Amino acid sequence: MIEINNLTKRYYSLTALDRVTLRIPRGEVLGLLGPNGAGKTTLLKLIAGLIHQDAGYIRPMTPDWPLIGLKPERLLFPNHLRVHQYLALIAGVSNIPKRDTPRVVMESLRQVGLQDAADKPIRNCSKGMRQRLGLAQALIGDPPLILLDEPSNGLDPEGQDDINQIVQQLHAAGKTIVMSSHQLPEVTKVCTHIVVLNRGRVHFERSMEEALAVQAHTAIRSDKDLEPLRAQLCSLHPEIEVEGELLVLRNEAMQLRRQVMTMLLYANYDIVEVRQARATLAEVYAKAVN
Ligand code: ATP
Repeated sequence: MIEINNLTKRYYSLTALDRVTLRIPRGEVLGLLGPNGAGKTTLLKLIAGLIHQDAGYIRPMTPDWPLIGLKPERLLFPNHLRVHQYLALIAGVSNIPKRDTPRVVMESLRQVGLQDAADKPIRNCSKGMRQRLGLAQALIGDPPLILLDEPSNGLDPEGQDDINQIVQQLHAAGKTIVMSSHQLPEVTKVCTHIVVLNRGRVHFERSMEEALAVQAHTAIRSDKDLEPLRAQLCSLHPEIEVEGELLVLRNEAMQLRRQVMTMLLYANYDIVEVRQARATLAEVYAKAVN
């Protein structure tokens, strides 16, 4: 949907983004990970057109720019307004015709599960409601591209789950989403692509499927089909997989490798190869940011 090429942004002498090249594919949820100051907010602001780059370009892969919704990192609301009044204000500045405003406001509240709070003064809203309100204002006008800067920042695990579910629903509805986060588990749960930024540079970029393939695992190859032992092996741990002559133990199941190999030998199987992949996504992240 969007192509980013050699994008560089400087704030005085500080290079916040350094020749970033990325693609944001249509319909994907791209997770931007990285430590404080990595350049995540700068990248989102550049995509949203709030600031301008010093070099490189961002361009749509379609003839026209898509409409973009942004949930900024810091949410500053007019506390004296009620939830629906604030969203009506946002609809006004988003050129939504006045006659459509009540419908558009209710639709965005419904998408984030805040329809019962439409009349609530913002000053009485909890942190979780404020984050959802931040999401609701990004959804006004039904933009196909949604930028979320730390959407679940400061929320308890339940609040984080609520936001994750909303992101998953938006993805299922066909939206393209770019979200920044500090949390690997959150990104792993909801994102289909992952980009790790550090000091303004891209250190890791993969589809989530590829990124998860670097999970720690032990692969044991035997001399014949393991199907007759499948039930017995898989009952040992949920993270044991059997495919033909190959047995894969992931994460904690790796601790069972001696037991599993003993079982194979007792069952008259030979072990042809044992391969150990040590890198986990967490390790890849740690390496990228150090
Ligand atoms: P965080 O996770 O803390 O939100 P981030 O990855 O979003 O960080 P940015 O906010 O994009 O990082 O900041 C990247 C770098 O640019 C940081 O060193 C920051 O201090 C600097 N920076 C950001 N905005 C400005 C600005 N308006 N003026 C000067 N420096 C800035």
